[in-house]
Amino acid sequence: MKFHVLTLFPDMIENGLRTSITGRAIERGILTLHTVNIRDFAGNRYGKVDDYPYGGGAGMVMQPQPIYDAYQSVARDAGRKLRTIYLTPQGRTFSQELAEDFAKEEELVLLCGHYEGVDERVLEEIATDFISIGDYVLTGGELPAMVMIDTISRLVEGVLNNEASAEFESFQNALLEYPQYSRPEVWHGKAVPPVLLSGHHANVEKWRREQSVRRTARWRPDLLEKANLTEKEKEMLKGEEDNGI
Ligand code: SAM
Repeated sequence: MKFHVLTLFPDMIENGLRTSITGRAIERGILTLHTVNIRDFAGNRYGKVDDYPYGGGAGMVMQPQPIYDAYQSVARDAGRKLRTIYLTPQGRTFSQELAEDFAKEEELVLLCGHYEGVDERVLEEIATDFISIGDYVLTGGELPAMVMIDTISRLVEGVLNNEASAEFESFQNALLEYPQYSRPEVWHGKAVPPVLLSGHHANVEKWRREQSVRRTARWRPDLLEKANLTEKEKEMLKGEEDNGI
């Protein structure tokens, strides 16, 4: 899968993503990371790409032409219009479900804003999706772009060494993942739940499912509406609620 990132700070993206799991996937050619410095398309010798907002107000706005030209340089090479995400606090909130949808694309363009944002007119021409990573305001779209690329990349075949590690994770089936344990068997006087040492696969699965359901009910009850709980699981939660657990 190919990610094109239009940004004023390509080093930030390169340093962040050419590390660890995404870095290895890039080296192995499973992912392609292509950063485009919007400043290279400034069209003036100062590399200036922002200006004062019409109508007044604090801060600067990124001008449309450099962004448009940066986008065109990518679309021209691809020979078609590409799905183009503008990272903005005003967009749809990013989620695992959206990541799964984006992971179906072969190529994605991510546009990182800065300062007070981007001239609306260029967004009307190139943006197909408006995505926020949460209800807070960052200084730029670079961290949100990295969050999205990291999440989407994990869903691309071959990026994770162990395919199973993406198999059941939090938010799949609207449940949080069960608690995990590793060595030693006893740590700070706390023993690993015995069922995990039993070697009885079916019992381990049953325990994990129960833990997932309980944990979701405790930490993210809002998710449960979409979870496919069995009648027995619903009763279990009801019983615990009645007993004040
Ligand atoms: N003035 C804008 C507003 O109120 O909507 C915020 C601009 S913000 C300071 C600068 C850039 O950071 C935005 O153009 C966007 O690319 C990025 N950004 C900030 N917060 C974000 C968030 N929660 N999700 C995605 N991108 C964000």
